[in-house]
Amino acid sequence: MAELEALYGEMLARRDSARVTALPGPWRITFDTNPDTCNLRCIMCEEHSPHSPKQELRKLAGKPRRLMPMELLRRVFAEGAASGLREVIPSTMGEPLLFEHFDEIVDLCAAHGVKLNLTTNGTFPGRGARAWAERLVPVTSDVKVSWNGATRETHEAVMLGARWDVVVDNVRAFVAVRDEVAAAGGNRCRVTFQLTFLETNVHELADIVSLAADLGVDRVKGHHLWAHFDAIAPLSMRRDAGAIDRWNAAVDEARAVASRRGVLSRTSSRSAMVSTSRPAGHAPSSDRRPGSAPRVASIRAARPTNSAELWATWATSTRRG
Ligand code: SF4
Repeated sequence: MAELEALYGEMLARRDSARVTALPGPWRITFDTNPDTCNLRCIMCEEHSPHSPKQELRKLAGKPRRLMPMELLRRVFAEGAASGLREVIPSTMGEPLLFEHFDEIVDLCAAHGVKLNLTTNGTFPGRGARAWAERLVPVTSDVKVSWNGATRETHEAVMLGARWDVVVDNVRAFVAVRDEVAAAGGNRCRVTFQLTFLETNVHELADIVSLAADLGVDRVKGHHLWAHFDAIAPLSMRRDAGAIDRWNAAVDEARAVASRRGVLSRTSSRSAMVSTSRPAGHAPSSDRRPGSAPRVASIRAARPTNSAELWATWATSTRRG
């Protein structure tokens, strides 16, 4: 914790002494490239869960899959790069690596000097983790791999269709390329495990942090369940005082493990960081949004010169569950 405080203090001092020029555009843009396309059916997913009627209703209504036109992306990249754009996030609903023009997004990032911030389900479809890593790592700031257990049983029961052995091997392969590129003096892309806290996985949180450290993952990050369906509302860790207590205990245990394994060591690729939020007190919530409790551990590498973010999205879609 002392290391965290020192690092944070250093960042704040650097930020306050920096002379920066504000630019007019957003520093980051999220593109909802392909919300209807995924190869998994996570139980908490607003679009693709077996509990969700949304995709079936779209089919019945004869609606086509939503796919963002590349012409729009090209135009936004060109205009954004000239006005301060530093980072883009492709679809956080659906699997972005299944977007048929994803390679062109990578090329646009390289051409405009814009970083890619990717959330993926860890299946690395089509070409496999190593080949995807070779393509992605040079332009990517952070790869968030959706991760929902420390055991096969737990992970596969949440992310329906995922195969534990495959996703673990994928992370290992991705991190190996990340380390090779960094060792050769190239970009060091951060790798993050991102989970949804659930009654069925929160007891494995400390083990997820251990696994992350074993695999060379830099950070473990989680958010509370968006209970889009009554069937999964009992999995929320915000639903009553007992669940909140179990969640707090799990986070404390996970942070202790993260500390033992070298939390926030900027020089060690084997460290893990727990970045998450706490429920405020013991007030249960039936809120269907993830909540806005304060973060207990959050580090930014640099403050962007322009602070606005922008979402290019569809009228009816929301973010990944
Ligand atoms: S949460 Fe993400 S990976 Fe899981 S089904 Fe939904 S879009 Fe796919």
